[in-house]
Amino acid sequence: MHVYSTLTRSKENFKTINKNRVNLFVCGPTVYDDAHIGHGRTYISFDTIKRYLEYSGYAVFYIQNITDIDDKIINRSKESGIPAHDIARKFEKRYIEDMTKLNVTGVNLFARATDHVDEIIDQIQRLIDKGYAYETEDGVYFEIDKFPEFGKLSNRNVEELESHRDIAETTKKNPQDFALWKKREGTDEPVWPSPWGNGRPGWHIEDTAITEYYFGPQYDAHGGGLDLIFPHHEAEITQMEAVSGKAPMVEFWLHTGFLNVNGEKMSKSLNNFITIRDLLKDYDADTFRFFVLSTHYRSPIDFSKDSLHQSQKSLEKIKKFYSSLDVEVSDVESDLDELKIAKESFFNGMDDDFNTPKAIAAVFDLINAVKNIKLNDNDKIAIKSFLDDVSNIFGIDFEIQEISTDSDELLDLILNARQELRSAKQYDLSDKIRDDLNKLGYEIND
Ligand code: AMP
Repeated sequence: MHVYSTLTRSKENFKTINKNRVNLFVCGPTVYDDAHIGHGRTYISFDTIKRYLEYSGYAVFYIQNITDIDDKIINRSKESGIPAHDIARKFEKRYIEDMTKLNVTGVNLFARATDHVDEIIDQIQRLIDKGYAYETEDGVYFEIDKFPEFGKLSNRNVEELESHRDIAETTKKNPQDFALWKKREGTDEPVWPSPWGNGRPGWHIEDTAITEYYFGPQYDAHGGGLDLIFPHHEAEITQMEAVSGKAPMVEFWLHTGFLNVNGEKMSKSLNNFITIRDLLKDYDADTFRFFVLSTHYRSPIDFSKDSLHQSQKSLEKIKKFYSSLDVEVSDVESDLDELKIAKESFFNGMDDDFNTPKAIAAVFDLINAVKNIKLNDNDKIAIKSFLDDVSNIFGIDFEIQEISTDSDELLDLILNARQELRSAKQYDLSDKIRDDLNKLGYEIND
């Protein structure tokens, strides 16, 4: 298996520190609002990567941090009057609900920053003791001049470390030094006691404190979106390698491309986002997963309803094919050449830096190749078993959901309620129900 690492900018033969074990860390969300489908893209990608590593025989331990203290959360708290802690817990819960709906179930441990303040303080203290960090009136900073290798992940240099969300302070030796601890004595912001007075952690230190605590100073793979390479991941390497004296902190740095809208990154700040919750009102999770996996995880995705619709159609084709394979169990092997070719192509694709579009193409090639062949039961069972593996790796159910009597009753109930809305002249709502039912494949004629 070959995996691309941002650190070497090349595909490397995948190897692990401990045989068959992968310690994987992916930067989790800052919990101040609902997650959007750009977040969904990143986390579906890593969920699928984990699934494939497990399929390939690795035991994967996957940790995600939850940034539950940060300027954005504090600002939201100031605007709304709701305590920062309550905002963070509410959106953490909603984030995990969203991920569960997307069948993103691979995270073994969610580690909150605020549950690891002791480890954070301990790591900062060791950085100070080793001469890498210093205290000022308003915080503790990493002295970037002391770590000449800064920039090796992103290929940038210190001068480019512009002011970002942790750097507003003035008392630093060098404007590029980044915050490890922010003193907040006498403010109404949440604070934790520390040897440097009451305050809170900087942005980068939570991740290295968490990974050092669970994995040690060196581990196998670290992921996140492309935007985190600089300065966030660069700062993580700087902190961890400085404190441990061991390099590399991480062998494989994996970064997902953005989900864009009209060429721009989907983000809260650009106000061009669709929350996962909203998307799932109109489309099912399988369709969105299939849409995401139709692009390689490192490439950008241009989001549009049209392309999502296209994914829905393509997935239906696989589901129809899958349902045509329903036969009784048989224990005779199939030697169908078309299946052998498809499997080889599928696994070659996945082994080549998790190339899911290539793997999906192998499935369609198979469907087309057997279209005019009379498959016997053994062939059908063998193809079905391959597609079951594909389904587990992609986290997508290929089973067509049957409409049961219960759902007929449910439909009657909805239609009656809609009729009552029409009688009450609430046409906006009744039209919306008609349109939503349309999207689900029901045509309503008044
Ligand atoms: P945040 O909560 O903004 O720190 O983002 C959490 C994770 O989602 C990070 O790994 C981001 O890189 C990723 N992310 C945010 N927006 C997008 C997007 N539009 N496309 C892909 N990944 C994103």
